[in-house]
Amino acid sequence: MRAMKKFGISTQTPLMVAVSGGKDSLAIWDLLNELGYTTKGLHLSLGIERFSEASLQAIDQFARPRGLSWVHHSLEEGFGYSVPEIKKRSRRKICSLCGLLKRQMLNRFTIQEGFQLLVTGHNLDDEAGRLMGNILRHRTQYFAKQYPFLPSTHPRLPAKLKPLYRLESYEIRTYCEHRGIAPLTMKCPLSRGATSHAFKEALDFLENVMPGTKRDFLFTYVDRREPPTHDDFGTCARCGEPTYMDLCSVCNLKMTLEEVDKKEEKPAGEELS
Ligand code: AMP
Ligand code: ZN
Repeated sequence: MRAMKKFGISTQTPLMVAVSGGKDSLAIWDLLNELGYTTKGLHLSLGIERFSEASLQAIDQFARPRGLSWVHHSLEEGFGYSVPEIKKRSRRKICSLCGLLKRQMLNRFTIQEGFQLLVTGHNLDDEAGRLMGNILRHRTQYFAKQYPFLPSTHPRLPAKLKPLYRLESYEIRTYCEHRGIAPLTMKCPLSRGATSHAFKEALDFLENVMPGTKRDFLFTYVDRREPPTHDDFGTCARCGEPTYMDLCSVCNLKMTLEEVDKKEEKPAGEELS
């Protein structure tokens, strides 16, 4: 597979594969095993009724007959709150909070499990949609991270690899059908109206009118830029995870949620006594 060669990942490198139970992560897990890599699956359970149980079931149904090993941790265990509990306490968009938490928890559990490299199933549609979102909002600070291979730049950060970034969603779906993989088909019930879906739909519209648009858009950017080499990460004073500030965004979020809980615990009128 081209991505593994391009970024010099030999079959001797143990790979932690982030598996959601969807088609992309099951496809890349399957492919890496076919290629002879030693892998372990890692699932983060978000505590979303029915969806989280169905995700675990899809992973188990895939991994068991193939004899693949995997672990799962819950967001509640890693962060103290599940996704629905966060949604109740915060007015911020739940998809972006969930994305932020998934990123840090998957990094953290990868290192805890003794792995140095985390593989995700992000595909061409995901990456092109993300690039479009960052460009439209002039979020130039995120451009540096838009690359299929990010080396580790902090002791608590694994290197990250997205081997499927050159494949479109429909190609991966076809691969799964061909290999007899039955991924989770249920969509996250909390992700309706997510902006990431809108960017993908916009690109699909352009792709229909001008075939090849998605590939040109992403590859022209990724293939012409220099790979990222360094980062000026510091260390979060509270949890020790990498951050650009004194406290990481996950700790900031946790403190906000704890504040909400404290206010609710205080009986009315307590301030008067
Ligand atoms: P998404 O952001 O849902 O499109 O997922 C992109 C990739 O992130 C997937 O292909 C997986 O590799 C990984 N991923 C997403 N959700 C989870 C999860 N709950 N547990 C582990 N990995 C996940
Ligand atoms: Zn922190």
